[in-house]
Amino acid sequence: MHTVIKEGCFVRLHTMLCYLLRRGHSPLLCLWALLLPLASLDRPSHRGSRDYLVTERPKLLLVSFDGFRWDYIDRVPTPNFRSIMDTGVKVEFVENAYITKTFTNHYSLVTGLYAETHGIVANEMYDPVLNRSFSMETDSVYDSRWWEEAVPIWVTIQKAGGRSGAAMWPGSDVKIHNMYPTQYLPYNASVSFETRVERIIEWFSAPEAEAVDFGVLYWEEPDESGHNLGPQSSLMDVVIAWIDEKLGFLINKLKEAGLYDRVNLIVTSDHGMAQLSPEKIIELDEYVSRDLYTWVDKSPVVGILPNEGKLDEVYNLLVDANPNMVVYKKEEIPQHYHYQHNTRIMPIVIEAKEGWTIMQNRTGPFMLGNHGYNNSLRSMQPVFVARGPAFRENYVKSSMRSVDLYPLMCHILSIRPMPSNGSLSNVQDLLSIEPTVTTPVPPHPPVPPPGTGYSCAPIVGSFLGVVLVLGFLVVYVILVTLKQRPSRKHRSWEMSQPLLQEDLHL
Ligand SMILES: [Zn+2]
Repeated sequence: MHTVIKEGCFVRLHTMLCYLLRRGHSPLLCLWALLLPLASLDRPSHRGSRDYLVTERPKLLLVSFDGFRWDYIDRVPTPNFRSIMDTGVKVEFVENAYITKTFTNHYSLVTGLYAETHGIVANEMYDPVLNRSFSMETDSVYDSRWWEEAVPIWVTIQKAGGRSGAAMWPGSDVKIHNMYPTQYLPYNASVSFETRVERIIEWFSAPEAEAVDFGVLYWEEPDESGHNLGPQSSLMDVVIAWIDEKLGFLINKLKEAGLYDRVNLIVTSDHGMAQLSPEKIIELDEYVSRDLYTWVDKSPVVGILPNEGKLDEVYNLLVDANPNMVVYKKEEIPQHYHYQHNTRIMPIVIEAKEGWTIMQNRTGPFMLGNHGYNNSLRSMQPVFVARGPAFRENYVKSSMRSVDLYPLMCHILSIRPMPSNGSLSNVQDLLSIEPTVTTPVPPHPPVPPPGTGYSCAPIVGSFLGVVLVLGFLVVYVILVTLKQRPSRKHRSWEMSQPLLQEDLHL
């Protein structure tokens, strides 16, 4: 296998070297620049069955079916989820981020940060510094300032010379740190899943110099049905089977494009879904006057902004008012929720117990299913399956945190991660190749100017070939020498402690 790889590298290096020489660069400089990447490419693997890192740029597609609870795959036959698990990995228990809402958790998945650090603390927010409100239902979503407390993975990839494509992922059509994904679809709920998939396939299938390395794909179901029907409804069985068919469509399209065994595919979700009941409603109007506060975020975790000077009064009226809700002053929120150190988290936060709905009174809309509850609840956990050249086969892992996905994706893509709350060491057993020090991959190959080729005179080519072989020998000796030295740990890019905003210098 090594012989084949090195021959492939030789041909590629030879043609690239010729190109650089034609551009007037020094031969020795060109040779050194081209040989450097080999030091990172040709590492031996302990599990060693796959060679994706050396044959092409690694590719990764992250898919989210909104509100796909972890146990849905066992309710009805889901052959397409099964096929991914059988040829890849499954994680049974995924602890997502508090609060278990859509925007909060989709941003955690692509930043590796908890809500208090990435700043998307809810679907509805108020920022007292900006003196602005955010709602996922309004154009406030497109105000960059809400998103720029963190750096999503597509920005990091593109700054490293890679390309990304986004189909409707929350926040992916917002200009963040002055950058959009290389390819993206502006959010439009009426665009079908099939159309989103076809765009993603086009982006991955483009010529190497234009193809995306990373894609995100979002679909609104089964969340919408879960809200309307309630997760316990037998009608949800039909919805789950329908989602499995959607996944089958994606798999077939990847196969038709020759991508299925080349792209690392991760299928997960932002949260689960809990069954509600009209018998389990908490009416805040029974306990506190609306004149004393502003209602910022909705059930089941409610953000309360008391009027000036009314914090203690509102808190005292609510704290022991109902046994089915827990009332926190902001500073009392448990540290392990990672939901305190942000000005967008309101001075009072009320958390309903599982299945309970907090309303001001019963005149508001009522849903049969909801999420947002405590992230330790099993009903709030999302599904997680993955397959591809980076992943082991037929492997089941018991648990992970959703913030660990970010360093895992950065490792697969060979990009240097931003500081995060996640840890690669927590999830490295999912990988077919043992993690090593993350080394940035080279940028996309240069595109030759129109009308020029890579052809070289045979004599010059032969001479360079000899030089390259000598170069390989030198690199081989260097690598053998390096292998005798203890390897650096990859944890250098991980943060074991929760990050505060001040820790990020964006
Ligand atoms: Zn959601």
